Amino acid sequence: MKYILVTGGVISGIGKGIIASSIGTILKSCGLRVTAIKIDPYINIDAGTFSPYEHGEVFVLNDGGEVDLDLGNYERFLDINLFKDNNITTGKIYQHVISKERHGDFLGRTVQVVPHITDAIQEWVMTQSLIPVDGQKEPPQICVIELGGTIGDIEGMPFVEAFRQFQFRVKRENFCCIHVSLVPQPIMNGEQKTKPTQNSVRALRSMGLFPDLIVCRSSIPIEMAVKEKISMFCHVNPEQVICIHDLACTYRVPLLLEEQGLINHLRDRLDLPIGESSSNLLFKWKKMADRYENQQKPCCIALVGKYTKLRDCYTSVFKALEHSALTINYKLNLMYINSSDLEQNTENQDPIKFHEAWQKLCKAEGVLVPGGFGMDGTLGKIQAISWARKRKIPFLGVCLGMQLAVIEFARNCLDMKDANSTEFEPDARIPLVIDMPEHKSDDMRGTMRLGIRRTVFKVENSILRKLYGNVPFIEERHRHRYEVNPNMINHFEKKDLNFVGQDDKGERMDIIELANHPYFVGVQFHPEFSSRPMKPSPPYLGLLLAATGNLNNYIHRGCKLSPSDRFSDGSDDSFSEPRFSDLEIN
Ligand code: GLN
Repeated sequence: MKYILVTGGVISGIGKGIIASSIGTILKSCGLRVTAIKIDPYINIDAGTFSPYEHGEVFVLNDGGEVDLDLGNYERFLDINLFKDNNITTGKIYQHVISKERHGDFLGRTVQVVPHITDAIQEWVMTQSLIPVDGQKEPPQICVIELGGTIGDIEGMPFVEAFRQFQFRVKRENFCCIHVSLVPQPIMNGEQKTKPTQNSVRALRSMGLFPDLIVCRSSIPIEMAVKEKISMFCHVNPEQVICIHDLACTYRVPLLLEEQGLINHLRDRLDLPIGESSSNLLFKWKKMADRYENQQKPCCIALVGKYTKLRDCYTSVFKALEHSALTINYKLNLMYINSSDLEQNTENQDPIKFHEAWQKLCKAEGVLVPGGFGMDGTLGKIQAISWARKRKIPFLGVCLGMQLAVIEFARNCLDMKDANSTEFEPDARIPLVIDMPEHKSDDMRGTMRLGIRRTVFKVENSILRKLYGNVPFIEERHRHRYEVNPNMINHFEKKDLNFVGQDDKGERMDIIELANHPYFVGVQFHPEFSSRPMKPSPPYLGLLLAATGNLNNYIHRGCKLSPSDRFSDGSDDSFSEPRFSDLEIN
């Protein structure tokens, strides 16, 4: 096992996660099996209780882990499925050590940060790195470990110390450190400044970690003289200084790293079993990046949500839309609409915002209502759903979005004016969306339905079924507490709103489709978490296909892309492969 630790310097938020994922991508493209561990030095056990405004969206894994959104980057870039233990937090490490202490495992000794916490970190990393994440049986060969925050943070210290010890434990040829730093260019003099990088590398060295590569983030490519200066002051060769300037397209990052000799460097440093010729390995990424940068035809989608001020709150939804747009060769024009702005006659109504919001919605060729919690802004979302339903504008409702679509339909088409979710109105006269906790034998406290669950298609003639490759069932990730009341679905099906996907017992309603509408689909799960650049999520692809007027053709072609949209000469079919084709009910 080879370990690559990625640390950050100067400030956070400079794309360390993307760089770490890109390093993994390059090594994967060289034929190596790669896994990833993200360390978040905060004390929370996991990201489950975070408001999206804290750290962006909460990402959900197959095993139900609620984790930092960076884990989503690893899954998307590397096309792997991680586990909750691939996300380490200070909270998890302390919880683990304290429970051992209570159990008497330390035989009466004093329990200390060094060595007990630092040992626990190292053991966690060693154990977790061996778990296969690509569906194969063999363990990974490379583990990319991203240490969140920046060097010097008090919270990160035990982790830095753990890795200082770790490098000796696993031996030099099995461990290297890549430091991602910032080279700012203040407008006052326009010069690229190396001092912050010098200082953060000095801090890293003073703690016993020596960077093998320094990746400099900058707004424009950095000059040779600057590179040489960093090399001189940071005690590395100029080839060990790699630059990643701001790019419109993140698919270029692996390419830019590769161009600067990352593969050769890591091969030599870690003695990796990689052949000499590596120039064609990132072929698909290059094609993707070229296509991304040359997209011409726009497709305008409105995302009607609650957390529209911070883009990170909907990262996976945005990515899933982008994967789909890229696949069919359209340029995604995503408009974020704060659903409260669509509401009329509310207390704080701002007429300008109201008109702007409706103008955006009117322009949309497709409407997406994502997941969410709480009642704020739900009226606006219901209005957007009504608009899409009546105007026959393609619509996808995800989780809360699906629940609200059912409520909208009940209120406006079934004359159930009082239909509501008990999440917003515990004593609703018509409890249409109700609390349905899922008590699993191993965790009686769990009141959320979390992680991968099976949805069985109840009918042959379902759009989603076709988009998923005509499979009998699918498995997607869930994160919700409330669900459509299964006792009420008859009323809806009489009026053509069909519950085409349910759990295998027929108790939980997972997919709705409205007949006689180009695309009116709701899913109780979150398909965005399993979307990949090369394998777009079918419900999202359906929305983009419908919004661009291509859905019927696509379905008639047997859910295959048109030859001109394929990424290659046909030898590579990965873009049109149904993801669940190999699953069978046993
Ligand atoms: N608030 C809803 C529930 O708990 C929807 C959750 C979501 O959209 N993720 O069921």
